[in-house]
Amino acid sequence: MNDWANKDRKYIWHPFTQMKDWVEADPTIIVEGKGDTLTDLDGKTYLDGSSSIWVNLHGHRKKRIDRALIAQINKLSHSTLLGLSNLPAIQLAEKLVQIAPPGLTKVFYSDNGSTAVEVALKMAFGFWKHRGQPGKKKFIAFSSAYHGDTIGSVSLGGINLFHSFYQPLLFDTIKVPAPYCYRCPIHLSYPSCQMACVDEVEKTISAHHHEVAGLVIEPLVQAAAGMITAPKGYLKKIRALCTRYNILMIADEVAVGFGRTGKMFACEQEAVSPDLMALSKGITGGYLPLAATLTTQAIYDVFLGDFSEFKTFFHGHSYTGNPLGCAAAIANLEIFEKEAVLKKLKPKISLLKKELRRIARWKYVGEVRQAGMMVGIELVADKKNKTPFPITRRIGHQVCEEAKKNGVLLRPLGNVIVLMPPLSISLPHLRRLIGVVEEATKKITQNL
Ligand SMILES: *Cc1c(COP(=O)(O)O)cnc(C)c1O
Repeated sequence: MNDWANKDRKYIWHPFTQMKDWVEADPTIIVEGKGDTLTDLDGKTYLDGSSSIWVNLHGHRKKRIDRALIAQINKLSHSTLLGLSNLPAIQLAEKLVQIAPPGLTKVFYSDNGSTAVEVALKMAFGFWKHRGQPGKKKFIAFSSAYHGDTIGSVSLGGINLFHSFYQPLLFDTIKVPAPYCYRCPIHLSYPSCQMACVDEVEKTISAHHHEVAGLVIEPLVQAAAGMITAPKGYLKKIRALCTRYNILMIADEVAVGFGRTGKMFACEQEAVSPDLMALSKGITGGYLPLAATLTTQAIYDVFLGDFSEFKTFFHGHSYTGNPLGCAAAIANLEIFEKEAVLKKLKPKISLLKKELRRIARWKYVGEVRQAGMMVGIELVADKKNKTPFPITRRIGHQVCEEAKKNGVLLRPLGNVIVLMPPLSISLPHLRRLIGVVEEATKKITQNL
């Protein structure tokens, strides 16, 4: 047992981790990254199959980002946006507005996905209050939604395992059924249902819109729920409902943004412009904590007035607009342009698609879901009846532990094996990733 492992167990409380199990096992301590891979203290190298939990885009130690950061460190690492500005924050805001869905013209910085969502909630609430409709203060969110771990974002959440425990601390939200076609919450089947679940959403909106500030949605993919993909056209219908009933549409692109679905933003897939958009995770290419909430001129303008009207947006964080984070983010966007990242994704997305068709036939695979480079493989105890494995059996966890032995790092979501490699993954590495998942799944399920 090495010293670092002992010190980890002695001092660190890990996120989303049962520490009783953690302290009984040997921690993997990552010391180096390069491209699609990570290397631990013992010198073992792994494929980073989860993009370091959905943040890394262009691989580790990407030259352009490394250089941008070093150059920025030599000028300024941090100064505040409260009462001051800085060059990287200005430059990044301009770039984000240029690439964002039309209509999003203002950028508010924070430092993680949860805060980006909280900022959107406060802006939506303030928008109606300043317009003289303070009764519009509730939020509509989806079943199985995940928007982060702060109290406000957990209030929007719909994943029982993570969220129900905190119920007494949360504010009230109005829940609508998510488009989880494999296990349809309203017991229909796609496509014969003709997206009847949208009618359910409409019923709720039409009953409550007088008291609703906004609807919060993960466009195209409910990622943390187990990569639940919405049917084509769904997002556009939800946008139309928000417009028709005069509620703000808040798009949480924290997971799906920055190329993951094959376009820069998931909203673009259906030509949707939300009223507010939360960004984080991939924004710095997976280097530093940074987030942004983008909004429209109309929402921004409502907060304008004499100071004595107290319409100031009273919200900010110590590291708002951090120059290092912004410099990494600028380099990230330059890589998208200079290296034609989105175009180069096409063969990777096709390879995944082809391989997944095969995987979908396996005995214990209930469904495979894919949106671009985001993949979920839902394992079930009984394929015909879609019977889930009991969550305490930790099938997903076992498969990922097995994959780790074979040099691939993954983190499951319950019974769903998640593949979300860096966008930069090479085709041979992508094949290897799929191969290792295949072997690991077979090994774990062979004696069931
Ligand atoms: C990860 C995630 C968040 C929260 O981001 P953090 O940086 O972990 O706070 C919010 N929304 C979605 C869709 C996410 O995937």
